[in-house]
Amino acid sequence: MSDCLFCKIIAGDIPADKIYEDDDMVAFRDIAPQAPQHILIVPRKHIINLSDLSEAEDALIGKMMRTAAKIAADNGIGDGYRTIINNGAPAGQEVFHLHMHILGGAPLGPLVSK
Ligand code: 5GP
Ligand code: ZN
Repeated sequence: MSDCLFCKIIAGDIPADKIYEDDDMVAFRDIAPQAPQHILIVPRKHIINLSDLSEAEDALIGKMMRTAAKIAADNGIGDGYRTIINNGAPAGQEVFHLHMHILGGAPLGPLVSK
C-alpha cells in the first residue's frame, strides 16, 4: 500500500528505530512511547487489522505472538509486558496496518481508562 505509514517504514522510506526484522515482520520503537519500553511489531504484509485476517494468515499471527515474546525478552522485559492490538477507530486504531503494541519497563496501569 503506497500511502500506508507502516508500509513505508517497513520499506525503509520513512526512518524508524527498528529493533527486529525477519522475512515476515518488523519491530520498531513507537514514536510516542506510553511506557519505558513501547515497541510495535508489524507484519510486512499489509493487513488492516484482526478483522481483515484470513485463514491463510493463521501461521503468521502465531509467529507474531511468539516473536513478540522473544522481542520482550531480548529487550529486558520478559518478566512482565503487555500486548495490545487496537482494532478499528473506536478502539483507538490510528494506523490501519495491523500492529501489536508491546509495553513494559514499569508497572502498567488499568487496561482501559474510563
Ligand atoms: P494505533 O493507535 O493505531 O494502535 O497505534 C499506532 C501507533 O503508531 C501509535 O502508538 C503511534 O504513536 C505510533 N506511530 C505513529 N506514527 C509513527 C511513526 O511515524 N513512527 C513510529 N515509530 N511510530 C508511529
Ligand atoms: Zn501497510
